[in-house]
Amino acid sequence: MRTPLIAGNWKMNGSRSQTKALLHGITSGLQEDTGVEILVLPVFVYLEEARHLLSQTSIQLGAQDLYPGGSGAYTGEVSGHMLKDVGCGYVLVGHSERRTLFHEGLPLVAAKFKAAVEAGLKPILCVGETKQQRENGATETVIREQIESVIEVAGIGAFHDAVIAYEPVWAIGTGLTATPEQAQAVHLTIREQIAQNHVDMAKRIRILYGGSMKADNAAALLAQSDIDGGLIGGAALDANSFLAICEAAVQKVI
Ligand code: PEP
Repeated sequence: MRTPLIAGNWKMNGSRSQTKALLHGITSGLQEDTGVEILVLPVFVYLEEARHLLSQTSIQLGAQDLYPGGSGAYTGEVSGHMLKDVGCGYVLVGHSERRTLFHEGLPLVAAKFKAAVEAGLKPILCVGETKQQRENGATETVIREQIESVIEVAGIGAFHDAVIAYEPVWAIGTGLTATPEQAQAVHLTIREQIAQNHVDMAKRIRILYGGSMKADNAAALLAQSDIDGGLIGGAALDANSFLAICEAAVQKVI
């Protein structure tokens, strides 16, 4: 049984006081020991504050990005070791906003994934197709390439503690959601691709769905056998919405 994971990607939102208020709302409403792993991914500069506020809880801390260098002349960047140093356990890699807005190509995403693992972080590799690619019937090809390019650089062994997030680009922040059947079909394809490289890894790897997951559609998505949790953007910025999604994931464990 894979432990469901619900991760809140806060993107570039909030302030110090809003970060505190959101964490307070989540920690005070969250049931402990439900068998669901909960993760928040705040803005870099609020990680230390978040670590302090989460210290007495089981909520995990992660970052939204990293730079694949150790240390040195990389102005403005943050390394995996630094993230580990401030208490992060996870890091997003290859989020579609990074791939499109910041032009991150397959080699850079793969290098980030490898650097995350080397720093002792669990990477959450985000993959997904655009609307155009889906309409052209290229969904599987696109995702296969996004995963294969990482396997080539980091090796399949690097996926041991990693997570994959299937995030159809057309569903991120748009209010559109893949149907549970559409999402399940892609998740199964991803698991089969991992199985072609390593059968046991495919059984253990968690594959999250992301793309306008909300309180009212989470249960149906999470009920699918290959959907092991959610990567939540907009709905993670409201404690009650996020908690409702966490609650929907508890049903997967019962
Ligand atoms: C995301 O950014 O990873 C995401 C899934 O966003 P949203 O839930 O807002 O679609």
